[in-house]
Amino acid sequence: MNLLFEKSQPGRGSSLIGPCDVEMYSPGEEYSRKTPLLLPELSESDISRHYSALERRAHGVNNGFYPLGSCTMKYNPAVNEKIAGMSGFCDVHPLQPDHTAQGCLEVLALAGDYLCEITGMDNISLQPAAGAHGEFTGIALIKQYHRSRGDLKRDKLIIPDSSHGTNPATSAMTGMRIVNIPTKPDGRVDTDMLKQAAGGDTAGLMLTNPNTLGLFEKDILKITEIIHDAGGLVYCDGANMNAIMGVARPGDMGFDCIHLNLHKTFATPHGGGGPGAGALGCKSHLSQFLPSPVIAKTGSGYSRQSPGSQSIGRVKGFDGNFLVVLKALAYILTLGGEGIVQTAHNAVLNANYLMKLLSECYTVAYPGQCMHEFVLSMEKEADEKGITASDIAKALIDHGIHPPTVYFPLIVREALMVEPTETEGKETLDMAAGAFLSIYRAAIENPQAVKTAPVSTPVGRPDEVTAARNPVIKYTPGV
Ligand SMILES: *Cc1c(COP(=O)(O)O)cnc(C)c1O
Repeated sequence: MNLLFEKSQPGRGSSLIGPCDVEMYSPGEEYSRKTPLLLPELSESDISRHYSALERRAHGVNNGFYPLGSCTMKYNPAVNEKIAGMSGFCDVHPLQPDHTAQGCLEVLALAGDYLCEITGMDNISLQPAAGAHGEFTGIALIKQYHRSRGDLKRDKLIIPDSSHGTNPATSAMTGMRIVNIPTKPDGRVDTDMLKQAAGGDTAGLMLTNPNTLGLFEKDILKITEIIHDAGGLVYCDGANMNAIMGVARPGDMGFDCIHLNLHKTFATPHGGGGPGAGALGCKSHLSQFLPSPVIAKTGSGYSRQSPGSQSIGRVKGFDGNFLVVLKALAYILTLGGEGIVQTAHNAVLNANYLMKLLSECYTVAYPGQCMHEFVLSMEKEADEKGITASDIAKALIDHGIHPPTVYFPLIVREALMVEPTETEGKETLDMAAGAFLSIYRAAIENPQAVKTAPVSTPVGRPDEVTAARNPVIKYTPGV
C-alpha cells in the first residue's frame, strides 16, 4: 500500500479549512521556514479512502476476538465515547481557573475515590499516562519515602522473574538496582528466596497479583509481611486487576501502592487507539509524595492542590489524560458495585472455560485453576516437530483471531498467553477453541502447514528481527 506522500499529486487539495477570517500574523523572518513544508497534496476523498483502507488492515476488538494475554483487550463501550465527546468535557482548557472547571475536577475526584475504593488505597494520582508510567511514579514515591526518613541505603528493588518487562525497566529509570527472584514450580513467588533477598538495602518489592502466569499469589500476606519486616515497601503492578476487582483489594493484602491500567481493566481504548492512563494509588503514608497537583474537595468546591513540599513533582502535563479518566469513570458508574464484581467473575470464568477446551491438545504451562488468563507452552512441539508458539499465533490470524501474547512471560518456553476477557460470549470462545484446536491438529499432521501462515494478510511473515533492530519508520522523499 502506498503512503500518502506517494499518492500525492502536485496542486491537488481539499477545502477542509475555509479562508482565514482574522488578520495573518507572521512571527518574523527569524522563525520562518527556509524551505517549503513537504506535505502530501490530496483530495478529501483520497485521504478518507487512505485511512479507511488502513483501518481495514488493522484488527481491533470491534473486528473480532482479541485474546492478547496481559493486555485485557475488552470491548470499549460506545457510551463512554459519547460522554467523552460532550462539549462540557472537550471544550475546557486545562489552564482554566478551578472555579470555572468544577465539573471536570469533580470527575477526577470521583474517579479517584472509586479507584481508591476498588484498590483499597487512600489517595491517588491520575497523572501517569500508562501502566509503565504509573510504575515509574510509584517507585519514585517509594524512593522518596525512604529518602524522607534519611534511609538512603535502600536502593534494591526485588522483582520476580515472571514480571512484565516494564517492571525492571521503569524501576531502573528511578535509579533502583534490580534483583530478580525465581518462581517456584507452582508458578508463585518463592518466599524462602524472598526472605533471603530482603534486607537493609531493600527499597521494596514489585509484584503483579494475580501474577503474569494468571495465578493468584496465595501467600500474598506473608510476602508483603516479609518485605515490611525488612523495612521495604510493596508495589503492586495492577495490570491484572480485571481478575479481582470488587472481589479482593491489593490495599488489604499489604500493598503500599498500585497502578491501574485504565485502558485495560476500565475499558478505555488502547493499542493504536490510545492514549492510556496509569492511575497510581497509594496508602496514606505515601500520600505526601504523590505528584502535584492532586484534586481536593474543600468547602468551596474542588481544587487542585499540592500534596506537600515532599511531592515528587509533576509526571505529566495538566491533569493527565483527562478524557481517558472520564471514560473509565463512565464505565465504573455503568457497571456499579455489583457489575464490577460480576465482570471479574466472568473474566475468570471465561479464561477457565477456554483453558479447559484448549487443554484437549495444548500443554497448560501451570495446570490448575487460572484467574483471568492462562499460559500455554509449545515447548514439546517445538523441540519434537519444530512447531513454535509463533506458528500457532500466525495461523490464528487466518481465522480472524488476533494472536495471543507470545514469548511472555519469559520463564515459559514457547509461551502463548491467552486472555479472553469477560466481554466475549460462549459462542466466540467455542469458535476460538475450534480454531486453536484445528490449527494444532493440522500442524501435528503436517508441520509445514503452519509455516506459511498467515496467507490472508497483505504481508505474511515479515522479518521481525530486522524490523525490531532496524526499523524504517520515517519517510524520506525520493528514497
Ligand atoms: C500492560 C502491562 C504493563 C504496562 O502497562 P502499559 O500501560 O502498557 O505501560 C505492566 N505490567 C503488566 C503485567 C501489564 O500487562
